[in-house]
Formats: sequence, C-alpha cells, structure tokens
Amino acid sequence: MTAFAGLQIYNTRTRKIEVFKPLTGKRVFMFVCGPTVYDFSHVGHARVFIFFDTVAKWLKFSGYSVFYIVNITDVDDKIVNRASEEGAHPLELARRYERYFIEDMLRLNVTAPNLYPRASDYLKEIFEQIEGLLSKGYAYVTPSGVYFDITKFEDYGKLSGRRPEELRVHRIEPDPNKRNPGDFALWRVRPQNEFGWESPWGYGRPGWHIEDTAITIKHFGAQYDIHGGAVELIFPHHEAEIAQAESLTGVKPFVNYWMHVGLLTVDGVKMSKSLGNYVTIRDVLKRYNSNAVRLFILQNYYRRPMDFSWEALDSAARAASRVETAALRLKQLDIVDSKVEGEAALTKEAEEAWDGFVEGMNNDFNTPVALSNLYRLSSAINDYTNRESRISLEGMNRVSSLLNNMAYVLGLRLEEDEGRLAQDLIRLIVDVRAVLRSRKLWDLADRIREELKSLGIELQDTPTGTRWIIRNKK
Ligand SMILES: [Zn+2]
Repeated sequence: MTAFAGLQIYNTRTRKIEVFKPLTGKRVFMFVCGPTVYDFSHVGHARVFIFFDTVAKWLKFSGYSVFYIVNITDVDDKIVNRASEEGAHPLELARRYERYFIEDMLRLNVTAPNLYPRASDYLKEIFEQIEGLLSKGYAYVTPSGVYFDITKFEDYGKLSGRRPEELRVHRIEPDPNKRNPGDFALWRVRPQNEFGWESPWGYGRPGWHIEDTAITIKHFGAQYDIHGGAVELIFPHHEAEIAQAESLTGVKPFVNYWMHVGLLTVDGVKMSKSLGNYVTIRDVLKRYNSNAVRLFILQNYYRRPMDFSWEALDSAARAASRVETAALRLKQLDIVDSKVEGEAALTKEAEEAWDGFVEGMNNDFNTPVALSNLYRLSSAINDYTNRESRISLEGMNRVSSLLNNMAYVLGLRLEEDEGRLAQDLIRLIVDVRAVLRSRKLWDLADRIREELKSLGIELQDTPTGTRWIIRNKK
C-alpha cells in the first residue's frame, strides 16, 4: 500500500480537489506565511502551524522529500510601533518574539519546518525584485514609495475570485500618489528617524508582500508546489505575491497548490490580537499538554472555521489521555513466542483503523477522519489490555508500528515522560476532588486544594470545571 498514491488536495487556485503531483519527482517545496513577531502567538496561529506541520509530516511519511519554509516577518509597522512604545529597537523586539514563537512551536511539537528565514535578511533580493518590476513596467515610483500597478497584471484577483472592477476601487494603503486605489506598496518611504534602509527610491522599508516572494524565489525558484496560510491572507497578500512573482519571472502558475486554513473564532468572532479576544499558545500549554492541543486543532477539518472553547480542549485532553494510556499499556504487555487468544482481532482492528487513517489523510487532510481511526485503534488496544497481559512479537510489532505511524503524522508524543505523568496525576486528583465536592465533602476538597498548593499546584474552580497552574518552585 502506498499512502501517497492517492493524495488529493483542495486547491484554492482552481477551486477543485486535485490529485497531488509535485513539480519535480519526489521533491516538495512548501511555504507557509509565518508570524509578524511583535506579540505572543495565539491559538489561531497554532491552528495554522499545527495543521501544516501535519501536512509536511504526512508528505514525508508518504515518501516525499519536503523542503518546508515558514518566514518570520521582522519588518513591519506593527513591530516598529510596538518597539517605540516600549522604547526598544524594532529588531530587538522582533528577535524576542521570534524566540517565543519558536519556543511555542517546539512545545507544540511543530518540528517539520526546515527554515525560518527573516525578512530583514533578504533586502538584497527585495531590491532586485523591485528593480525587476520597475524595469518591466509593472511598478512605478512616487514620492511616498514604489507601488505595483494592479491594472498591469491581468490575473490580479483570480485567486480570490474578485472582479477587476471591484479591485480597482478596493482601497488599500490610502495614498494620493497612487495610480489606482488597489495598488500595493513594494517599498515605502519613511522618515530618517524611523527604522529602515537606504534605497534607490528613498529611505524606508519594504512592503509586506515582497518579503515572501524574495524568500521563496531565492530558495525555490520561479515556481513551487504548495503555499499555505490562513484564509484571510488570500486577499490582498497572496494575490499580491502571485502578481509580483508572475510579472517578474513570466512563469505561471507561481504556485501549483494554494492551501488555506479556516478561521479560529471565539463565539463566532475571529480570534485576533486587534480584537483582544485571544488566548495565547502559552496560556493553553499551561493547562494542557501538546497532545491535547494538537488533537483539539486537528479534530476540525482545516478548511472550516472552528470555534475555540475550553470545554472542547477538555474533551480533547480526555481523548489524548486515552491514546497515551493505550500506548503505555501496549508497552507493558509481555511478549511471548506464540499468538495469544484475541490477538488476531486486535491486529485486524489495527489494520482497518490504519486504512481508515490513510484514507482520511489522503482525502484533503481530513484529520477528523484520521483521528476517529486513531481513537478506534486506541480503544482496541485498551480493550485488549483489559483482558490480556501478553502478546506475540509479531502482533506487538504490527500494532505498535501502526500506532506510532499515526502519532508521528499527527505530531503526538507517546513516549513516557514525567511531565505528562504529573499532569495525569493532577487530573486524577482534580477528578476525585470534583466527586468530593459533588458530595458536599467540602473539608476534604479544601484539604486537597491546600495540599496541592503547598506543592506549587494552584487550582482554579471555574463554572466549566477546575483548571490548574503549576507554579515553578526551585
Ligand atoms: Zn506571507
């Protein structure tokens, strides 16, 4: 069975589900728009990066060699403004939040990206691309900077399905020097006392869209396989990238497969820094392990919007703990020479679960289907270990390799670790305390709270259940 034979991907560019075929043999070049590093990343970012980490891992598992880049936007007005509020240098601020971002990613077991290039390291490529666009007549110089003339690129609007009339009047980056309201900046002139660079078009900073094409054309060339990002980046960001790259190189399509992840909402409203309704990745990781967070994200089909709630995280945490238990109990079985009664049923169930998992992943990364098969396998293992304490070597190899394959692709950590054991024990104690409270045994419940507190574990009773924070004590 070749897992990759049937991979199909919904392509935003063609609005169709298509069989995935890389441009060159077994090599896949993939780029996902990374964070603008001026604050802590929130769960909406976790959704995008956990999903594409899983995409890259599935491609690798399927036999492809994947070169996966996530860029770091370290040049941006938001960074400059935040830095001036804090009295810090913009790049110093950007480095700090970049480090927090990478830490968050590693804690979420997001390990697939090969490179996190910074926009500020690509000024040379940005200059070359702006020169190229000017010399080909796609861009023009004004006193306030260089703009791309969207009327010169006839495919502008195709990715997002917007009509040219609509785009002409769609006002972005208001500036009386622009030819069309929808033109976007390649270079923006800024005052000398602000962070920036000297350029042939005046002192200033690059536009956001040109950062991405500077990075991808340098590393991937004029054309590559997969470009991913959040759905709200389709317009104007991804349209602008296509306009820049295709005008410059003449190669179409710039990107073969465009993949977009739906919004993460809170009570139906987009989670965002500007709206202030966000929960950071750090907040979530204080209470849940990475397995719980990844299952919470991946239990939703990536193209649909998903709503954030602590209740859904609680239920993902319970699911994670069933999978972790299955992995642990499987390892605790004694290995014997001959097949054990009931083992055939377990391996059959495992094979079927694996087939279902592969089918889900190949069907445009339908991770809810993949997860249901992971849970199916976990229950089969838990049922088996309830009845049996032994298994044959062959059975052990088969079942554990299928479980480990799923864990690898979904980015779950199933090896034992003390941190998780501690979390599981706390969860157990919290559950017992909830029973005591429901029986109105307040003195015992309070004693548990006090004893935990003396160990540095602080309980918080909320209307939706008890949460805890481990205060670091050294
Ligand atoms: Zn981008």
